[in-house]
Amino acid sequence: MMNAQLTAIETAARVRSGDMTAVEALAQSQAAVTARDADVRAFLHLTDDRAAEQADRVDAQVAQGQDPGPLAGVPIAIKDNMCTRGAPTTCSSKMLEGWKPPYDATVVSRLEAAGALVVGKTNLDEFAMGSSTENSAFGPTRNPHDLTRVPGGSSGGSAAAVAAGFVPLSLGSDTGGSIRQPAALCGVVGFKPTYGAVSRYGLIAFASSLDQIGPFASTVADAALCFDTIGGHDPRDATSIPSAIPSAAAALGNGVAGKRIGIIDELMGEGIDDDVRARVEQAAAALADAGATVERVSVPATIYGLAAYYLIAPAEASSNLARYDGVRYGQRVDGVNVEEMNAATRTAGFGDEVKRRIMLGTYALSSGYYDAYYGKAQRVRTLIANEFAQAYSSFDLLMSPTSPSTAFELGAKSDPMSLYMCDVCTIPSNLVGHPALSVPFGVGDDGLPVGVQLLAPLLGDDELFAAGQVLEDANPTDATASGSEIRGEVRP
Ligand code: GLN
Repeated sequence: MMNAQLTAIETAARVRSGDMTAVEALAQSQAAVTARDADVRAFLHLTDDRAAEQADRVDAQVAQGQDPGPLAGVPIAIKDNMCTRGAPTTCSSKMLEGWKPPYDATVVSRLEAAGALVVGKTNLDEFAMGSSTENSAFGPTRNPHDLTRVPGGSSGGSAAAVAAGFVPLSLGSDTGGSIRQPAALCGVVGFKPTYGAVSRYGLIAFASSLDQIGPFASTVADAALCFDTIGGHDPRDATSIPSAIPSAAAALGNGVAGKRIGIIDELMGEGIDDDVRARVEQAAAALADAGATVERVSVPATIYGLAAYYLIAPAEASSNLARYDGVRYGQRVDGVNVEEMNAATRTAGFGDEVKRRIMLGTYALSSGYYDAYYGKAQRVRTLIANEFAQAYSSFDLLMSPTSPSTAFELGAKSDPMSLYMCDVCTIPSNLVGHPALSVPFGVGDDGLPVGVQLLAPLLGDDELFAAGQVLEDANPTDATASGSEIRGEVRP
């Protein structure tokens, strides 16, 4: 059992009060990684020296009577698409193997400034394209609840690191569901903030109009603390919201009494497994018991979200990934001239899914097709935004499953379309920039975790944490965060 692990809030309280040193907190995290990460493979690189230096700094501050900050001594894992100065940042791509960024992402600096210890970089689908972490050039991560299953993706390493009890907190990025879906499959809390609430300076771009950074945690309160620490304006990110972001921690304990909550009809029907749907209904009943009014609501255009996303995200990716030309970053394969060098580098450096997205995106943006594909997808985006606005005129929050199913077996979804379908419930929030929280709620027929998704309008982030805590308290199973026994054989 790994769930003896302290939460981030408990760790920081002990370190700040001198009951435990940051060096001890780090050693516990490292021991857990040593014991199980050979099987789980959540981490691509460990940053032991950096974490040890930071732990010494935190302990020295405590010894001098200074407060190291709200995350004092808390071990944290970072998805390997966020820059860490001097430490490998690969995006799980051969293209960036060996590249060490010369600067830290703002989120990393903010976490360390709050006393956190960055213990390592976690595995992901290459350039965050995928829903299972099987698209990593460095091999898949496995679900800590059952090693034959995927952890979800693309932030599968960060989700698994929390679920396995390696760290109480980690960061992921969410372009179409990559925080919430793996959180659901691994039985942890995952949060995608309002677009612009968290700086993306130092996040390697996938689809810039959709990407957001957010936390994984084993409790809603830990996720709130992490969000409050990394959020807020950053002059280095032009899309960062200049006004103050309401504190998530301040909303904890507010409950849902008097709130109107709508279950999105279109995300409860075809394609959603019965056991998952039953858990969402049970979660809705728990919210009603806590004083909310819960009703069904129709948001018909959400079903077009997936199709729009698979034009917009590849279009933006094809542009963002043009920079990997063999000159500026990472790998180069030589050729007789520059064009051949570019082509050889990109052929060798990118995996199949990344190539597929670049081709899809380039096609969707090509002259003659631009209006029919990209233009139309943008119009669908507006339609979804209008329908959400209408739903929020009658409801404070909306809810749905996070993922249509529990964690599936490695290799089970080998065609791209069936993997794309994993994000049908999560994509709409990215398209409109709204925040969304996935909270573990019970298990499916297979005994594996189910996640319930709560959605709020722009800058309603704090409200999600209040409602999320109600679900956390009503969770019918405790074995979600990190407590379940390991099942399944590890296959080579
Ligand atoms: N699974 C989706 C995709 O493959 C979403 C990925 C993400 O959110 N980064 O694009």
